[in-house]
Amino acid sequence: MVSDDNYCQCCGIMLGKSGKMYGTNADSSKNNEYCGYCYRNGEFLYKGTLQQMVESRIPRLRVLEPEISEEEARKILTDRLSKLDFWADKKA
Ligand SMILES: [Zn+2]
Repeated sequence: MVSDDNYCQCCGIMLGKSGKMYGTNADSSKNNEYCGYCYRNGEFLYKGTLQQMVESRIPRLRVLEPEISEEEARKILTDRLSKLDFWADKKA
């Protein structure tokens, strides 16, 4: 399924319709759940923690939504990312 609101289930970026953002399975087919930065050739490339992912995403969110504080951005991202498949079973 490809739609506008398709997000990478690890980092939460929007995958979009072009297909360019998508990760790849071990057989080189397209993976619809993860982006190419997080998942490639059937392996997860992202090895960090949820906290690290949240921190790395804060500056970008604040570019998109400058009116929110860093603290709010952290809260929003923690909430959003912790619901994604990749993190769902990794929560402490
Ligand atoms: Zn990703």
